[in-house]
Amino acid sequence: MLLDDLKNIVGRKGWSTSADVLDPHLTEWRDRLRGRALIMVSPNTTQQVAQIVQACASERVAIVPQGGNTGLCGGAIPDESGQQVLLSLARLNAIRAVDANDFSMVVEAGCILSDVQRAARDQGRFFPLSLAAEGSCQIGGNLSTNAGGINVLRYGTARQLVLGLEVVLADGTVWNGLRSLRKDTAGYDMKQVFLGSEGTLGVITAATLKLYPEPGETATLFVALDSAQRSVDLLARVRESFGDRIQAFELISDRCLRFVARHIAGSVRPFAEDYPWFVLCELVVDEQQALLEDMLGRALEHELIVNAIIAKSAAESESLWRLRHSISEAQKFEGGNLKHDIAVPIGRIGEFLTRGDALLASLMPTARLVAFGHVGDGNLHYNIAQPADADAAAFMQQGTVLTDAIYELVADMGGSISAEHGIGVLKKAHLKRYRSATELALMQSLKMALDPQNILNPGKVI
Ligand SMILES: Cc1cc2nc3c(=O)[nH]c(=O)nc-3n(C[C@H](O)[C@H](O)[C@H](O)COP(=O)(O)OP(=O)(O)OC[C@H]3O[C@@H](n4cnc5c(N)ncnc54)[C@H](O)[C@@H]3O)c2cc1C
Repeated sequence: MLLDDLKNIVGRKGWSTSADVLDPHLTEWRDRLRGRALIMVSPNTTQQVAQIVQACASERVAIVPQGGNTGLCGGAIPDESGQQVLLSLARLNAIRAVDANDFSMVVEAGCILSDVQRAARDQGRFFPLSLAAEGSCQIGGNLSTNAGGINVLRYGTARQLVLGLEVVLADGTVWNGLRSLRKDTAGYDMKQVFLGSEGTLGVITAATLKLYPEPGETATLFVALDSAQRSVDLLARVRESFGDRIQAFELISDRCLRFVARHIAGSVRPFAEDYPWFVLCELVVDEQQALLEDMLGRALEHELIVNAIIAKSAAESESLWRLRHSISEAQKFEGGNLKHDIAVPIGRIGEFLTRGDALLASLMPTARLVAFGHVGDGNLHYNIAQPADADAAAFMQQGTVLTDAIYELVADMGGSISAEHGIGVLKKAHLKRYRSATELALMQSLKMALDPQNILNPGKVI
């Protein structure tokens, strides 16, 4: 009965139960989880989403919203029961409006992030959210995970880029909060409740996004360092010279570059010499090329950096960024892979890495650290690849010891176990350990208030 209702709501092109069609939607990006689903429905209007949720609510059947399925915590994968409805937002993908004078745009949840960026650019505006998965992740997924990416330093996380939301609530009611106001203190800011809630409190169907002027002329630097701590010192120096015109400031370890060179066709290591750490930085320079060269000269003189490249063309800049964006993909070829998307205070990144090295050396000296990330936000992807030639499954099992130790260190340093990827299912136990009983109870009461039947992405986050 429910299946017939769902099929009628979306029409023939809007559903599938075929194993071949569903398979990529039921598998987590790293293949860490596989789920099953009653049906996948792909509505193409908000009204259809509302009807689907209403139909599921009346039968108390769970719904798992899914965007581009690039999330790294398993939030978009249904459980193994085969009783959950997979709600793909892929066909709800219209750019409803771009208002250049208002510096805002209204987009539907299923728009691919790179299409959102392009639509803004076509009107001479800039939408700053940018991450390696931007060619396949969807804006609805980005907002539901409060995605970060490479431009947070200057523009903030996804949360800061939203002016309004349209959300389908757990009973199928549509909340239209698509305002584009910069100031609005009328009551609680309800959109913030749904942003970062990983599909557990409502289904985001559209958003009003904040746009910016195009950043102007930028320079891409690739800098070699002899220690990770130097990246923090360098960031302070670049900030003194360029203020808030730092678009991105990414730390990359030598092992990351080696993996990319080994597995990603066409990638070239930027320096002939070996160095342990690198920073990839994007700066708005406008007419101030001389200031940039002067700053780099002083950094070399004070031994903050040991070598530097300034990209001479857009193509060179792109190939440097391709190295950065290929790291996660390259790591997949190296077997078992533990991901730790952590945040610590920016000034303590060097200390974190030193203490992390000591932990790894004591617990599993042959494991291979693959550290990189958004050092300007205090956010590291402190990933660990299995020892070469180890058994991947055995490594992943033993890995819980490493993960627990790393999260203890993060907590000890006043950090967070999830900086930008969310909790999904993979980090649920750790959320419980590292948030206070009071905070967890607040989260539970929010969930109860907005989804009393627990049908929206049950078993995720809390
Ligand atoms: C190579 C690579 C690089 C990455 N780099 C970054 C990075 O730099 N920064 C970063 O933050 N993340 C990064 N990620 C993680 C991932 O891309 C982000 O979490 C992204 O925001 C997920 O978007 P998605 O559309 O794929 O969402 P999905 O994976 O489909 O879903 C993620 C969560 O959101 C929920 N959801 C999806 N759409 C909706 C909706 N419309 N309404 C309600 N809930 C919804 C799902 O149920 C799930 O819980 C990276 C991933 C990969 C594979």
